[in-house]
Amino acid sequence: MLLDTYGRIATDLRVSLTDRCNLRCTYCMPEEGLSWLAKPELLTDDEVVRLVRVAVTRLGVTEVRFTGGEPLLRPGLAGIVERCAALAPRPRLSLTTNGIGLERLAAPLRAAGLDRVNVSLDTVDPETFHRITRRRRHGDVLRGLAAARAAGLTPVKINAVLLPGVNEEEAPELLAWAMAQGYELRFIEQMPLDAQHGWQRERMVTAGDILRSLRTRFTLTPEGESDRGSAPAERWIVDGGPHRVGVIASVTRPFCRACDRTRLTADGQVRSCLFAREESDLREALRGGADDAELAELWRAAMWGKKPGSGLDDPSFVQPQRPMSAIGG
Ligand code: SAM
Ligand code: SF4
Repeated sequence: MLLDTYGRIATDLRVSLTDRCNLRCTYCMPEEGLSWLAKPELLTDDEVVRLVRVAVTRLGVTEVRFTGGEPLLRPGLAGIVERCAALAPRPRLSLTTNGIGLERLAAPLRAAGLDRVNVSLDTVDPETFHRITRRRRHGDVLRGLAAARAAGLTPVKINAVLLPGVNEEEAPELLAWAMAQGYELRFIEQMPLDAQHGWQRERMVTAGDILRSLRTRFTLTPEGESDRGSAPAERWIVDGGPHRVGVIASVTRPFCRACDRTRLTADGQVRSCLFAREESDLREALRGGADDAELAELWRAAMWGKKPGSGLDDPSFVQPQRPMSAIGG
């Protein structure tokens, strides 16, 4: 298994399938985009499936989430999902996406074996969407969400980031809309993982701010600490139920002690944490002829050295070299 020196066991693997994206969310990347990884640097579909197989059959991984960049831009996505779904033991398979293209892909991905999706949507207003993502694709995302719900990729979850002076007042409206549509909403605190290094702690919308804002319109009852498990989202029952709302407070209420994540970047680097500054190169080993047992050993060694926390509260904190879009959020 993937154990670290603090006794945590990683069973949840995030696989980034590309660092490219068709949106330009201001909290993630600059308007002009980034210098994307060249094709030969990316793991091939076969290499991705092989490493997922090593993780699932040798290292105790039970959950695999595909992300990016924008994973729907990866041409071989459905094939990768299908081959991962055929592994024994079968991992649970999910996807984090901006939803563009999901209208067309939700049903084929479901048929390939995908279990669930998280779609990122920060606003119900098309103009605010344009302001945040710098693209006029709000309608595509809404249609993608509806297609995911229709295809049975449920519960369909929505990830929302609130930005000061842009959509920070929108939390109650977004929640009312998500509940009416049957989507489960989770707010994510903005983290210092943007490529531009523009994040400022004193200017972020905190979990406390979000809960205060939601409580102006809804009654929120905590689900209870015991239900959180290793899940990063703290959840609240809305107006007595059945709807829930989650807040992922990675900055103000970190959940590092219970973290069960391991990450694989699109170019085959294992990362033990979003905020890690070290990576372990599985691609070089894989292309150099390492067998599955050797790859598993390298992965174990990479996770053994996982730090106790993100280090965000440490005055010496330095943002990792890779932005969120290249790590896989
Ligand atoms: N493109 C896909 C998407 O947007 O869902 C997958 C990759 S994206 C990096 C994954 C998640 O990270 C999204 O929900 C996005 O809102 C979130 N994200 C990106 N940059 C962030 C930041 N600086 N702080 C907090 N969340 C961020
Ligand atoms: Fe693209 Fe997702 Fe980053 Fe937005 S958050 S720019 S959709 S990778």
